[in-house]
Amino acid sequence: MSEPPFRKILVANRGEIALRVVRTCREMGIRTVVVHSTADRDSAAVRLADEAVQIGPGAPRKSYLYPAMIIEAALRTGAEAIHPGYGFLSEDPDFAEICDKNGIVFIGPHPDVMARLGDKAAARELMAAAGLPVVPGSAEAVSTPGELVETTKRVGLPVIIKAAAGGGGRGMAVVRDWDELLPAFRTTRATARGVFGDDRVYLERYWENARHIEVQVLADNHGTVLHLGERDCSVQRRHQKLIEESPAPLLPPALRDRLTQAAVRGAAAVGYTGAGTFEFLVEGDEAAFIEVNCRIQVEHPVTEAVTGIDLVREQIRIAAGLPVSLTQDEVRPNGVAIECRVNAEDPRRDFAPCPGLLTEFVPPGGQFVRVDTHAYAGWQVPPYYDSLLAKVIVWAPDRDQAIARMRRALGEFRIDGPGVSTTSELLQDVLAEPVFRAGRHSTALLRK
Ligand code: ADP
Repeated sequence: MSEPPFRKILVANRGEIALRVVRTCREMGIRTVVVHSTADRDSAAVRLADEAVQIGPGAPRKSYLYPAMIIEAALRTGAEAIHPGYGFLSEDPDFAEICDKNGIVFIGPHPDVMARLGDKAAARELMAAAGLPVVPGSAEAVSTPGELVETTKRVGLPVIIKAAAGGGGRGMAVVRDWDELLPAFRTTRATARGVFGDDRVYLERYWENARHIEVQVLADNHGTVLHLGERDCSVQRRHQKLIEESPAPLLPPALRDRLTQAAVRGAAAVGYTGAGTFEFLVEGDEAAFIEVNCRIQVEHPVTEAVTGIDLVREQIRIAAGLPVSLTQDEVRPNGVAIECRVNAEDPRRDFAPCPGLLTEFVPPGGQFVRVDTHAYAGWQVPPYYDSLLAKVIVWAPDRDQAIARMRRALGEFRIDGPGVSTTSELLQDVLAEPVFRAGRHSTALLRK
């Protein structure tokens, strides 16, 4: 076996993704340090890591979003690199810069690239300049009511107002009537300021019946940029993904080529390195770029299932200066993979998160069923973080069999606890829905 690219990696995250990174590190012969809050001290990631360092209380600002504590833990334990997972500091160029200043490798793209793409209004412009089609909208951030009205007149209603610094489906408002335009502008700016500390917003034409299709790219420091095909993430609730799959059903091959080539061109144009995702909206024959995510994504396992590639392993290798471990020709997606997000949310209370003690937690099993979770019976789901409990990923030779396998797997999943409910029933309803089964759904599927 060859030498591991790093001796020790610190995982600056929690939940299922922290555990997922620890697993790949172990397979690569890399020791791991997991940092955690007091609320996560008994998590599965903490138990399975080689070392664990408590960095603060449950509130993210004082732990997972606190760079000084994380850097100190890395220096003290001798970690050479930091894997940021998703969310928290994963797309924060300042954090990447601080890592660099302390001689620690940040596993992700260069901070400059992250800064340019993290401003979603600027990213639109960059990609338009690289020749990618973008959703019609404002050229840059919209700062006055005059500009707002002007741009809306040009692109036409409905429009969506988005925070330039936004993410995670937050800081967005759809506007269908002129009366709603100014109030929506004000509330989005206020939310953007409050949540992201940056009140700049921009505007796009709202595509009512679009599919969300994204392309996974891998790029190294030796000039290789390749793609691992696409994922369809059109099953969403309030702009949050619930079910993802690869390949995208019924996507014409020519359109698939256009999207994957656009992503590769976009990544090359900005000097992207690492694993990244180019997101597009597709309506009929039209396709347009919306944003780039500079991190590993929640839904990456569907790509792993159809390509057989470990994306976290590639991220780590690339960060260590090694080349991507395969060529574009060697990427041969096979079969169909679907992922369902099982969240601790209460359908009777409009899917509000419902943290609490899990008294029963028995994940499904069987052939080609992967469950990524940090939970177990006896785990107290903390109230401070996102509601994701487990991701169920299935693979099958074709889509019908994959759907049948997912229904079977979700049916086996036993989760119980006082006050704890999940999205499982909603997921089952979608899987049984004729338009979903036909692969003809759009992001409008669960819109009320
Ligand atoms: P975030 O970074 O918060 O996830 P995105 O810009 O990726 O925000 O948008 C999230 C989701 O919102 C998309 O997947 C899509 O369903 C919807 N959306 C975003 N922009 C548009 C648009 N212009 N038209 C229609 N839907 C959109």
